[in-house]
Amino acid sequence: MKACVLGAGVAGMTSAYFLARAGHDVTVIERNNGVGLETSYANGGQLSYSYVAPLAGPGVLPKVPPWLLRRDSPLRFSPRLDYHQWRWCLQFVLACNAAQSELTTARLLRLAFYSRALMHDMVAREPLDFDYVRNGKLVFYSSAGSFRSAVSLMDYQKSLGCEQQALDRDGCIALEPALTHIASDIAGGIYTPSEDAGDCYRFCVGLEHALRAQAKPVEFRVKTRVTEFVRRHDKISVVRTDCGDIEADCYVVTLGAQSVFLLRAIGIDVPIYPLKGYSLTLPITVNSAAPFVSITDHQRKVVYARLGAELRVAGMADIAGYRADLDPARIAVLVRHVRETFPDCANFGDVKPWCGLRPATPKGTPVLGRTPYSNLLVNVGHGALGFTLACGCGKIIADLASGRDAEILLDGITLH
Ligand SMILES: Cc1cc2nc3c(=O)[nH]c(=O)nc-3n(C[C@H](O)[C@H](O)[C@H](O)COP(=O)(O)OP(=O)(O)OC[C@H]3O[C@@H](n4cnc5c(N)ncnc54)[C@H](O)[C@@H]3O)c2cc1C
Repeated sequence: MKACVLGAGVAGMTSAYFLARAGHDVTVIERNNGVGLETSYANGGQLSYSYVAPLAGPGVLPKVPPWLLRRDSPLRFSPRLDYHQWRWCLQFVLACNAAQSELTTARLLRLAFYSRALMHDMVAREPLDFDYVRNGKLVFYSSAGSFRSAVSLMDYQKSLGCEQQALDRDGCIALEPALTHIASDIAGGIYTPSEDAGDCYRFCVGLEHALRAQAKPVEFRVKTRVTEFVRRHDKISVVRTDCGDIEADCYVVTLGAQSVFLLRAIGIDVPIYPLKGYSLTLPITVNSAAPFVSITDHQRKVVYARLGAELRVAGMADIAGYRADLDPARIAVLVRHVRETFPDCANFGDVKPWCGLRPATPKGTPVLGRTPYSNLLVNVGHGALGFTLACGCGKIIADLASGRDAEILLDGITLH
């Protein structure tokens, strides 16, 4: 079968990988001059299989007003005259309850554990070099109240198969001595030894090389923008691009936050809105002053990952439309957080700032699988977990495209 994957972010690259392994002829179409250059470029690098609880949680709504008033807030809302922005916000508010949050967590954990097994298999099988480490993750909490809530979430997640430990302040410092100078700000932490990290862009590039080198190489059509789907009855007959039409037996949409526009034009409404986030990449200058374990500062919602000789720092969510332009004020806040948390770790004159648009759904679950068109599949809406969930989602797409059932339950993560 001829399969055409639209978009070469991490979702597209893993879809292409598993489609190719299933024996299909695969073409990947990408508007940029290379793979992984948009939201998958400089993300937080966390393969955070046990930290999947959605942003839409029961305790979030009371925090929103103070967040919106603060300039250094992890969340910023810039209202637009856009029905889809307001609808997304309303759906988000409706999802902020304990029952929905627990259901979403359980669904995402299932998908994340599946992804972890597939990622481990992939790194054992393929010569991928993406600063991949299995270094575990520590989430630290600054207030006793938020630490208590984290411990009860940990207890719930234990029942779903997560292996995590609650650490007091001394335990956190013993695990990650680079946090010593902010010890007084730490109430406690949750440590998950089974979390991984890696560079998502280099993962995409590594997959591209592997897929080009196969006996039946995957074709990459870069600098090619998809403009339209042409429908015939219940099928997609062709995709239009600015470099001509492309015909296949099966099409997979992995266009990230941009997916909504092409899908809406053929009557498919996916509840995705971009949540803009920012990252910094800094060269580590003092090894012992930078964390070896991946770190999340829960209060500030900032994540830290050591990727080779660099520190990747990421955070913030701006509900502000589709422009992926850097806001110097947000970058300055992120730089300040790093200076306060790991002051001596890096050369701050050599910071590489970046931002990207997380393709977020209000509930936090991606949208995967079949559509009303018999030869069109979607793999979209992974929000803050696109790298983490990429392998599982790619394999599910390949199984469905091959006429097989997915290997895990898909309830709550399909279109209908
Ligand atoms: C600051 C930040 C930190 C993050 N940290 C993490 C993390 O630590 N762990 C984690 O798991 N996830 C993280 N994420 C989320 C993760 O990066 C995303 O979920 C993931 O990259 C989405 O991948 P994607 O392939 O769906 O989208 P993209 O990477 O955006 O790929 C979509 C591709 O489609 C192409 N495209 C779009 N329109 C067209 C068109 N019309 N024609 C042709 N091509 C087109 C784009 O050029 C792009 O290459 C983070 C995100 C951000 C912003």
